[in-house]
Amino acid sequence: MTDTTDLRQRIADAIRDAACKGDCGQPEEECARQRIQPFAWHHGRLAVVEGAPEQFADAVLAVLPTADRAAVYREAADELATAFGDPMAKHIGILGASYLRRRAREIEAQPAGPATDDEARL
Ligand SMILES: [Zn+2]
Repeated sequence: MTDTTDLRQRIADAIRDAACKGDCGQPEEECARQRIQPFAWHHGRLAVVEGAPEQFADAVLAVLPTADRAAVYREAADELATAFGDPMAKHIGILGASYLRRRAREIEAQPAGPATDDEARL
């Protein structure tokens, strides 16, 4: 299984896991405001869900490897450091890049995120 295939499956599992299991105890409207909703099952497996884009984004962010987020910060820092020609703007860009690189180091210094259910079963 390639890294991309593995990540794709982890993201899909995270979205499934974020869907209400029907036992949240909240009224339907309140639950739908807070959670991805199950919509259809195929052979006993949740196959179709619905929800706000932000709910999916939150579910996906929870499983993205932290190293990838640090890489995104570094890429942004590299671009910011060279984005401006004007000396004053360039100075501010370099300060911003320095901040982004510090955030990348802080992210990498954090312990790894919680294992997914699949990882825990391995
Ligand atoms: Zn619910």
